[in-house]
Amino acid sequence: MFVSDPETAERRNAAKGNTAQEKAWAVAATVCDPEIPVLSIADLGILRDVQLYDDGGMVPAVQVTITPTYSGCPAMDAIRDDLTAAFNRAGYPSVRVELVLSPAWTTDWMSEDGRAKLEQYGIAPPSGHSAVRHTGPVRLALAVKCPQCSSLNTKELTRFGSTSCKALYVCQDCKEPFDYFKVL
Ligand SMILES: [Zn+2]
Repeated sequence: MFVSDPETAERRNAAKGNTAQEKAWAVAATVCDPEIPVLSIADLGILRDVQLYDDGGMVPAVQVTITPTYSGCPAMDAIRDDLTAAFNRAGYPSVRVELVLSPAWTTDWMSEDGRAKLEQYGIAPPSGHSAVRHTGPVRLALAVKCPQCSSLNTKELTRFGSTSCKALYVCQDCKEPFDYFKVL
C-alpha cells in the first residue's frame, strides 16, 4: 500500500495538465459529495490519490484513494459507486477504490474553491483551522460568518444540524438560519 499525503494530492489537484494521470484525476473529481452536491470530492479533500496501473487489460486499471470525512459516513458507499460509474463511463472498466483512514480527514483539506461554493450554497464554510493533532483535535474557534449577509453576529442553535458535520446557526442581523460546516 502506498502512502498519500495531503501535499501530494494537492499538487496533483493543482496540476491541470494532460497526462493520463491528470485526466484520471479529473474523472474522479467529477464525483460529488452526496450530502453536499455542490461540492466535488476533490473540493472536499476526500479525494486523495488516483493511480493508473497495468493489469494486463486494454486500458490501464484505476486505483482511487479516498479518506472519509467523518467516521462511519454513510456517503462513502455512494461515493465508491459513483467513482466506479464515472470511470466506467470514461472508458476504464477496472476500478478499485481504497479507503484510507489515516491521516484523518480535516476541514483544512477543503479547497478554497470548495469553501466558496459552500458559501454560495448557503452553508457557512469552516472558520479557522484544526491545529496539528498531537493530543486530539484542537479547534480554533472564530466567528462564523452568515452566508446571506456576511454578518459575524451569529449564534449556534444546535450543535448537530441536518448532518453530523454541520451545526445549525442563526444570524442575529438578517435573522436567517443557516448550516455551518464545523471545523474538524
Ligand atoms: Zn445574516
